[in-house]
Parts: sequence; structure tokens; C-alpha cells
Amino acid sequence: MTDNTRLRIAIQKKGRLSDESKKLLKACGLKINMKGESLIAHVENAPIDLLRVRDDDIPGLIMDGVCDLGVVGENVLEEELLTRQRAGEAADYVPLQKLDFGGCRLSLAVDKDFDYQGPQSLAGKRIATTYPELLRRFFDEKGIEFDACLLSGSVEVAPRAGLADAICDLVSTGATLEANGLVETDVIYRSQARLIRRSGDFNAEKQALLDKLLTRMQGVMQAKE
Ligand code: ATP
Ligand code: ZN
Repeated sequence: MTDNTRLRIAIQKKGRLSDESKKLLKACGLKINMKGESLIAHVENAPIDLLRVRDDDIPGLIMDGVCDLGVVGENVLEEELLTRQRAGEAADYVPLQKLDFGGCRLSLAVDKDFDYQGPQSLAGKRIATTYPELLRRFFDEKGIEFDACLLSGSVEVAPRAGLADAICDLVSTGATLEANGLVETDVIYRSQARLIRRSGDFNAEKQALLDKLLTRMQGVMQAKE
């Protein structure tokens, strides 16, 4: 059985959010004992465990109440929320602080030779993405039909590979798009990392620990401003 008395925080194991997530928790005074590839890292000076997982798993772990806190990109969070809502599943969580890292945008991009006149130019076209629900919301609001091509990686090569007419992917500097002969046309969602918490009550000890952690986190964030 897992020890339910310790506060469980889900963070990305490896990727764009993992270093900043660890740095933030360390700046809050947590002494993290992280050994190699292990799924769980214990905090030595507080009853806290870190769960190191893929970022895509973090919203679900919070919405299912398996972890107490999570650090995740709003893009992944919103996609999971829309997916669960469509399936009629519970999707509760409590948004806490927005964090000052992981900034990016989910954008449409087309081949630089595509005669793009606005989203209507993509009517009936195939669009490759890892975020089908966010993409669908954007086009549904405009009443435009499209075909989705779901890829969990290498989205930017889909047009050149003949798999899609356009892409909807995360962009920060735009260098990856440019390197693949694509131009960004529309921003459909702006994202940054966020701290989230499961819904429902915590016991008194966990709540006190959470309050202390949040106060420290606010201090850390303010000191950086
Ligand atoms: P995992 O193996 O955990 O599933 P991943 O490959 O899906 O990792 P990363 O590329 O590490 O994910 O990105 C994690 C998050 O970082 C994204 O969901 C997004 O919130 C944020 N991010 C910031 N800038 C970018 C960018 N330029 N491209 C992709 N993600 C970015
Ligand atoms: Zn991921």
C-alpha cells in the first residue's frame, strides 16, 4: 500500500518542465533525495514524496485524486479536461499558482508555400496534432470542419511527410517551425506551467503542510519578480 500520510506531488520526470519544477521545490526548502530513474523521490525534511512521471499523466493523477499536487503545462491540463468532459468523466482539480516557466503557445502552422487566408483555408484539410481537443474547440467555435491526424511526437514533419496539410503544435521561439519550412498562422492557446491540486479535503497535517508550501512558493516567486 502507498503511504497516504505523505503529501504526494507529481512532477515531470524528464523534459522541459522537470528542472524548473525541481528548482522551485528546492527553493521552497525541500531537500529532495532523487536517485537516478526512480519513480518516487522522497523529501528528507518534510513528509512529502515526489512522483516523477510523464507530463501527460499529471492531470489525470490529480483528477483521479492519486496525487495531491502537480506541476504541469496548462496545455496538457486543458486537453485532459476537454477529453474527460467529452467522455462524461469527472475532471475536477483546483488551479493554484501560475508558475514563471514553461511558457509556450499552441499554434497552427502551414507550409511556407501554402496560400493561407485564415482558418477557413484549412476547411476539409488534415491537421496533425498532439492536442486534438484544443484544436477541435478552436475550429468548432468557427464552424469549420477539418480532419485531425493524431501524432504524439514529430508533428512538425507531418506536412513534409505527406501526412497532413497543416499542424497544430507547441511553439516557443519558432525555430523548429522555421527549420521545417513552416510558418505560424494562428495562436490557438497560450500556456505556462501551473501548480494544481486535487479537489476534496486534505487531513489537517497535509493541509498545514500545503499552506506552508504555498506561502513559501509565493515568497520564491515574488523574490524573482
Ligand atoms: P514527456 O516525456 O513527459 O511526455 P514531452 O515530450 O511531452 O515529455 P516536453 O517537450 O518536455 O514534453 O514539454 C513539456 C511541456 O513544456 C509542454 O507540455 C509545454 O507545457 C511546455 N513547453 C514549453 N515550451 C515548449 C516548446 N517549445 N515545445 C514543447 N513544449 C513546451
Ligand atoms: Zn508529454
